[in-house]
Amino acid sequence: MSRVVALGECMVELAPATNGLFAMGYAGDTFNTAWYLRHRLPASVEVSYVTAVGVDAVSHEMLRFMADEGIDTRHVAHVTGRTVGLYMIHLKNAERSFSYWRSTSAARLLADDTSRLDAALSGATLAYLSGITLAILAPDARARLAAALATARAAGTRIAFDTNIRPALWSDPDTMRQTLMATAAAADIVLPSFEDEARHFGDADPAATAARYGRAGARLVVVKDGPNPVITLAAGGPVTAHAIPAPVTAVVDSTAAGDSFNAGFLASQLEGADLATAVTAGATLAARVITGPGALVRSAVTAVS
Ligand code: ADP
Repeated sequence: MSRVVALGECMVELAPATNGLFAMGYAGDTFNTAWYLRHRLPASVEVSYVTAVGVDAVSHEMLRFMADEGIDTRHVAHVTGRTVGLYMIHLKNAERSFSYWRSTSAARLLADDTSRLDAALSGATLAYLSGITLAILAPDARARLAAALATARAAGTRIAFDTNIRPALWSDPDTMRQTLMATAAAADIVLPSFEDEARHFGDADPAATAARYGRAGARLVVVKDGPNPVITLAAGGPVTAHAIPAPVTAVVDSTAAGDSFNAGFLASQLEGADLATAVTAGATLAARVITGPGALVRSAVTAVS
C-alpha cells in the first residue's frame, strides 16, 4: 500500500454562526492538505496525519473526526497535561481576523519521540510539512524532525514542503529564514506562495522565488501567486509559467487556497501526471475551495472527484 504522511498541527476552529453562536470545526494548514489529499487520492493510498494531541475529550473528538474522514491517526502522540490548539474567526464588515490559543498546544511536542517519527515516516511515498510545522517546534525537536526526514528521504520518501511563512510563530526572522531555506534545500518539492516570499525574502517576482529555492537545492519549486500564473522550476529545467485555468473574481473565502492547491498538485503527481497537468489539478481544486466558506470545503472535493 502506498502511504502519504502529513506532519503538523490541527486546531479546533470556532467560526461565527448565527445569533452570536460559533460553529466548531477542525483545521490547520497541513491538516487541510491531508484532508484534501484524502479526498483526491484512491482508497488504496493511506493518508496519515502526524501530530500530538492531549488525552482529554476534545483531543479524542479531533482524532475521531480525522478517522471518520478516512485519515490514519495511529502515529499521533498523546501527551498528558496538554491539549489541542484553538482559534476563533472574527467577522467584521466581511473582513476576517483570528484569535489563537496555541502557544502551549500538544502539537508542539510532535517531534519529541524520534522512534515515533521514524515509524510514521517508514515506507512513506511522500511526506508533507510546512513552515508552520517547523515554527511550532523547539530547536531540538526541529533538528529531530529534520533528521527523521533525511532518513526517510534516503530510503526513498519524497519530501514536499510549503514554506507557509508566519513570522509571529517564530522566535526571530533570521532563524525563520535559515530554517525555511535549509528545509527547502532538503526537499523534493517546495510549494511557496509569492506574496509571503516577497515580503520576507525580498524576491522581485515569482521566478526569483523559484530560482532562490532552486539554487538552495530544491528539486522542484512550484510558486503560487493568487490568481496569477503558477511558476515552476524543476532542477535543470526552465522556469515555466502556467496560467490559472479558472481565475475566480468572486472569492468567498481564500482560506486554504494554498493548502488545497498543494493537495491537488501532489495527488496528481503521485498518480504520475506531468507538471502542467498537476498544476492544473491543484489550481482547479483551489479555485473551487475559495468559492466556499472555511478551510475544508466539502462541495469542492465532491465536485472534483
Ligand atoms: P495562499 O493561500 O498560500 O496565500 P495563494 O493566494 O497564492 O496561496 O493561492 C494559492 C492558489 O490558489 C493559487 O496558485 C491559485 O491556484 C489559487 N487561487 C488563489 N486565488 C485565486 C483566484 N482569485 N482565482 C483562481 N484561483 C486562485
